[in-house]
Amino acid sequence: MTVLAEIKARIARAAEAENRPAESVKLLAVSKVQPRDRVAAALEQGHRIYGENRVQEAQGRWEPFRKAYADIDLHLIGPLQTNKVKPALDLFNTIHTLDRDRLARKLADEIQARGVAPDLLVQVNIGQEAQKAGIDPAKADVFIAACRNEYDLPVIGVMAIPPFDEPPEPHFKALADIAYRNGLDEISMGMSADFESAIAHGATMIRVGSAIFGARDPSGAV
Ligand SMILES: *Cc1c(COP(=O)(O)O)cnc(C)c1O
Repeated sequence: MTVLAEIKARIARAAEAENRPAESVKLLAVSKVQPRDRVAAALEQGHRIYGENRVQEAQGRWEPFRKAYADIDLHLIGPLQTNKVKPALDLFNTIHTLDRDRLARKLADEIQARGVAPDLLVQVNIGQEAQKAGIDPAKADVFIAACRNEYDLPVIGVMAIPPFDEPPEPHFKALADIAYRNGLDEISMGMSADFESAIAHGATMIRVGSAIFGARDPSGAV
């Protein structure tokens, strides 16, 4: 069994343990910083959903791959600067990191000009860490409502990266609560070390990098 097939089998088991179909969990293969040949191998094995965290790095890599594979589903999971909104909209099907008014306004203007929109998730700084991106959990409901009603943005879910040095479960639960009380279907949480637990707490999109592709080269790590 390939590594990718093993991860998919683990996802299916974790989902079935919650009486959910395996297809209710979308696996984003996080390809940031990984060598091109590892990503090409995953594409050859049929995987089509990928996560990247830098717009420019993703452009260089995915524009050529898209010529070979028309059905690639690309997700931005890293911070988005307002001056990168245009290239981000050119490239990504889904953006997981909507977290502030200025970005919401810029996205709304650009989406209106184009008449097409990516799916959007609101990133929540679920552990309230000073260095981390994301809207404060206490402000999440108001921000989600503003994104939908003021900016008319297609928000489909929430995303978070729990603190690295704490058990993730309370944070998974808190993020899922925000999704449920705002009527949002998609919950993006869980990485290589904890995706099964994230699925147990309701994750619908998991972001798995090193468990699929191997450790990232620290010299290029982000
Ligand atoms: C890098 C990254 C991941 C994947 O991390 P792994 O531990 O390699 O699975 C998931 N989410 C985000 C936002 C990331 O930046």
